[in-house]
Amino acid sequence: MGHEKSLDKSNYEVEVIAPEVCKACALCVKRCPMDAIQLKFSPEATNKFRKAVEIDTELCIGCGVCVHKCKTKAITLKRKEEITRPPKTGRELVQLNAMAALAAKEELTEKN
Ligand code: SF4
Ligand code: SF4
Repeated sequence: MGHEKSLDKSNYEVEVIAPEVCKACALCVKRCPMDAIQLKFSPEATNKFRKAVEIDTELCIGCGVCVHKCKTKAITLKRKEEITRPPKTGRELVQLNAMAALAAKEELTEKN
């Protein structure tokens, strides 16, 4: 069996559990293969930059690299509550419908 690099999502995602201990060192940001982490202003941050990490859970694949890198344990891996979930907002629903319509159109074009 090969060792292909997989970007499939795992059943885990990262959660910021302690923004107050984040040092804004950006080690996790640099190591994230998905660019899913950003340092942003946070009222809870205690470092001189007044920033703490924010995770884009849509991008996070749950690889755990950032958690391993974080010495202060500001972030952790948690199991996703739902692996598949219904759309949360009307906007998301519109996006999904638009994607489905586009896919159907492409399928039709391929057939003709
Ligand atoms: S678990 Fe992996 S993909 Fe998710 S934020 Fe951390 S490094 Fe990025
Ligand atoms: S979460 Fe951890 S590794 Fe990431 S910036 Fe904060 S202290 Fe550094």
